[in-house]
Amino acid sequence: DVKLVNVTKSFNNINVLKNINLDICEGQIISLLGPSGCGKSTTLKLISGMIDIDGGDILIDNKSVNNIATGKRDVGIVFQDYLLFPHMSVFENIEFGLKMRKVKKDVRAKKVRELIELVKLTEYENKYPSELSGGQKQRVAIARTLAVNPKILLLDEPFSNLDINLRNEMREFVSDLQKKLNITTILVTHDKEEALMMSDKIAVMLDGEIKQFDTPNNLYERPNSKAVANIFGERN
Ligand code: ATP
Ligand code: MG
Repeated sequence: DVKLVNVTKSFNNINVLKNINLDICEGQIISLLGPSGCGKSTTLKLISGMIDIDGGDILIDNKSVNNIATGKRDVGIVFQDYLLFPHMSVFENIEFGLKMRKVKKDVRAKKVRELIELVKLTEYENKYPSELSGGQKQRVAIARTLAVNPKILLLDEPFSNLDINLRNEMREFVSDLQKKLNITTILVTHDKEEALMMSDKIAVMLDGEIKQFDTPNNLYERPNSKAVANIFGERN
C-alpha cells in the first residue's frame, strides 16, 4: 500500500502542499480530484520521486521511500502528453525501459509481446507513434510504464487529450486493466464524472489540502464541508 503522512512541499516559499495525508490500500484505484493548480501533479511527482519532499513521509509497503531514488521505487507514471519516442516503433517504445535495465533480448521480446496483447495493439507493434490514434498512443504509454512491473501506477490526467468517445473508451479500458492486474493506482483528474466512474475512493483536493478522502457514495451523502458539498452537488 501507499501512505502519505503530513506531506508538505513548497516552491519559492509558496506552500503548494500543506499537510497531505493519504492511505491507499493495495490493489485499489483512487482519484485525486481538484481544480487546476491545487497540487495534484506535485503529489504524484513526490510519490514517484521526481521531486523531493520538504516534510512528512511517503511510505510504500510501510517503508519510507523519502531517500530512495525514482528508479528504485517501483512506481510507474503516465503523463497526459504520453512522451513516446517518435523515432521508435510501438515495440521499441515498450521495450525501452527493459533495455535500460539490461533485461535479456528474448525475455524482453516475450514481455513486450505480452504487454502489446494486454493493451490490444497486436496489429500495431511495428507502427510509429505518428501513425497511431490518441487512444492507441495512450495505450503504448501505459504498456511502456507497466513493462518494468511497477507496484504502483500513477496516471496524471491521462485522458484529457482525447476526444469524448475515445475518453470513455479509455476510461473503461484502464478500469478493466487495473482490475485485471490488481495494481494500486492513483488517477489524477479534474473531472468529477471520471473520478466517480473509476475510483474506489476519491481524495478531494483544494488549494494544497485534501478536504475529504472517501468513497464516491460518502462524498455524495456525507460531504464533510461546504467545499466538498459544492463539488458533489447535493447540498448547495
Ligand atoms: P493542473 O490541473 O493544472 O495540472 P495541478 O493540481 O496538477 O494542476 P500542480 O502542478 O501540482 O497543480 O501545481 C501546484 C502549484 O505549484 C501551482 O501553483 C504551480 O504553479 C506550482 N508549481 C508546480 N511545480 C512548480 C515548480 N517546479 N516550480 C514552481 N512552482 C511550481
Ligand atoms: Mg497537473
